[in-house]
Amino acid sequence: MLIIFQVLFVFAWIVIITLIVYKRRTEESIPLPENYQELLTDYVQFYRQLDEEAKEKFEKRIEHFLSAVKITGVNAVVEDLDRLLIASGAIIPVFAIPDWQYINLHEVLLYPGAFNEDFDQAGSDRPIAGMVGTGAMQHVMIITKWQLRQGFINNQDAHNTAIHEFVHLIDKMDGTFDGVPEIILERKYVERWKQIMDSTISRMKNHGSDIDMYGATNPTEFFAVVSEYFLNNPVY
Ligand SMILES: [Zn+2]
Repeated sequence: MLIIFQVLFVFAWIVIITLIVYKRRTEESIPLPENYQELLTDYVQFYRQLDEEAKEKFEKRIEHFLSAVKITGVNAVVEDLDRLLIASGAIIPVFAIPDWQYINLHEVLLYPGAFNEDFDQAGSDRPIAGMVGTGAMQHVMIITKWQLRQGFINNQDAHNTAIHEFVHLIDKMDGTFDGVPEIILERKYVERWKQIMDSTISRMKNHGSDIDMYGATNPTEFFAVVSEYFLNNPVY
């Protein structure tokens, strides 16, 4: 009788351990869609311009991002393309930093279109295309499906909402939201960067610029808009 209990006990443990391992594996690896290379080639100019080795690295970084950050649709269906574009927007600004992780981001909410400060998705005055959360929304980013796709489809106008919002997150990671990414900028360059920002913002205000004038709003927006300008279309 005892031996039957022992066998059952061991068997039960094998089942439990198998289930735990299986669950962990399914949670950890979110496989990329079958046609991910095709989608990246069609939509992401930054990826198209990489050599084969760098493309492989980019794909690995995308996969890693998608297994770490949840993407949830709010009145919007999250399609494979949306997941790939959000991950591309995350990786493009930090592609040169191999071990980068967005430790300040847990979830991206995908809205169908623009929204207002009360997060309303209907009505006439909805000027916001994306935002990084603060307060109760800390560690959350909101991005709109329409603007996300436009940013990658339309490469001519240097706008890319996903890149813009991820650059804001990078700026915020050092604890201050000020257009100075101390986390990637060596201390000795901080003052120089501030001077460049200030002088370029006043030049933009006085003489206009190729760069979207929204960048002259303040240093935070300047850093995000300039990054969009250079990263969305690397041939500039
Ligand atoms: Zn912004």
